[in-house]
Amino acid sequence: MAEVKKMFIDGEWVLSSSGDSYTLINPATGEPLAEVTKATREDTQRAIAAAKRAFYEDGWCDVEPLKRAELMNAFADEMEAQVEDLARIETMNNGKSLTESTYDVYDSANCLRYFAGLCTKPTGQTYQVPDTNVFGMTVREPFGVVGMITAWNFPISLAMWKLAPALAAGNTVVLKPASYTPLSTIKLFEMMEKVGFPKGVVNLVIGSGSVVGDELAKSDDVDKVAFTGSIEAGQSVMRQAATNMKGICLELGGKSPVVVFDDADYKTAVDGAVFAMFYNQGEVCSAGSRILIQDTIYDKFVKDLVKLTKKIKLGNGLDEGVNMGPLITEDHMHKVLGYIETGIKEGATLLCGGHRATEGALAKGWFVEPTIFGDCTPDMRIVQEEIFGPVLCLQKFHTEAEAVELANHTTYGLAAGVYTENLGKAMRVIRKIRAGITWINEYGPVYNEAPWGGYKQSGIGRELGTYGLDEFSEVKQINVAKTSAPTEWFGTVD
Ligand code: NAD
Repeated sequence: MAEVKKMFIDGEWVLSSSGDSYTLINPATGEPLAEVTKATREDTQRAIAAAKRAFYEDGWCDVEPLKRAELMNAFADEMEAQVEDLARIETMNNGKSLTESTYDVYDSANCLRYFAGLCTKPTGQTYQVPDTNVFGMTVREPFGVVGMITAWNFPISLAMWKLAPALAAGNTVVLKPASYTPLSTIKLFEMMEKVGFPKGVVNLVIGSGSVVGDELAKSDDVDKVAFTGSIEAGQSVMRQAATNMKGICLELGGKSPVVVFDDADYKTAVDGAVFAMFYNQGEVCSAGSRILIQDTIYDKFVKDLVKLTKKIKLGNGLDEGVNMGPLITEDHMHKVLGYIETGIKEGATLLCGGHRATEGALAKGWFVEPTIFGDCTPDMRIVQEEIFGPVLCLQKFHTEAEAVELANHTTYGLAAGVYTENLGKAMRVIRKIRAGITWINEYGPVYNEAPWGGYKQSGIGRELGTYGLDEFSEVKQINVAKTSAPTEWFGTVD
């Protein structure tokens, strides 16, 4: 029996108090990958207590920002030094190609460095109140204990978007990775232990959402919860967080539109549309899963889109030249295939893909062909619901106003893109689309420097950028009377 992977609580690598564990499956091969411990509610409470002690009693909240920045930079150095190992683990656990895993590692190390930089540059306001004797200022202070719950599609990045700003702001942390993909997060915690984060400051609890996630969301000793995942689980976190009115940051799903006008740079737009949908197997919250194409170029654009999509090479992410891996689990693969069936029944035109890929070694893993549906109409389920796999819906529009209307016609509001060489039009359209993350003449890059988060049901709050640092700190007003003088409101003191 393989050694059971442990979690990190109060500076020690431990197994679950129940002794329970579960088996991870490599999605590319369908074979067992690792055995991982499975935490109980009590284990979670112990991690929260350790984080609370580290914050209030051991004095993490008073550690100089420069010292925190040093630890974070050393952590980033470790990530870069172990990039190959970390990327390999990620690919075997999640399925994504090695190129994409490697990118995630470097980008997450950059995220750490960005927030390590901000850590030593806290900002606030000064303000003048009507009473000229009073001088006012704001300062930012950490929440205390931050609970973090991540999804499986970008395990390293999603952990870092929370860890880096939360630690920079001076919080202590309890992190729960997605149950399917804890391996790279375990590695990150080994690195944090190695570079010397003090006992109890960073804790890793591995287990289910309904136990560990739920406990983090409702515990009175957690001061803020940062969640990435589905709307349904996000709603549950929000309800549980009400128990002690803890702060919430919810990064949820999307069904994001990419609007292509006939005056776009044609090759950039075709390339951008394929990248928008099929990067990371389409398992991307901000995937451009609805491409809206102006009717004047629709037929030609669709032909070239399909041609380029057919060049995508499916395979085990560890293999050279592969640029799309398997989906995360067998269940998820069936869910995505179910949506493809739905699309066909709804009357959309299947232009390419549409099946499980079973050629040769692919038969052992959870592979779905890159799939494109044409002639989609606004109310189809495949247009309205997040599929979270490689299934692209194409819609045709005539006017700018129609493009905006179609773009906004979902309950989501995470991301959007516009392709046109007319900058005025691009700005008009992008400002009318209800989404928090937008691109013009490119689609998809995540910038550590820019706020990440959605409108509508795609979430609450922002990660990354200076907004991300604010998200993990409270604001305090401090009012100072320059000259001491009694108010004499209730009379005088003899
Ligand atoms: P999920 O909601 O099933 O799980 C996300 C995390 O929440 C996991 O760690 C899970 O164990 C935990 N969880 C589940 N139920 C919970 C509960 N009741 N209480 C507390 N925690 C709970 O989502 P998923 O399938 O892992 O991820 C896919 C979803 O995540 C998609 O909707 C995708 O768009 C979204 N996502 C959003 C972003 C973003 O930045 N907006 C990024 C990545 C993924």
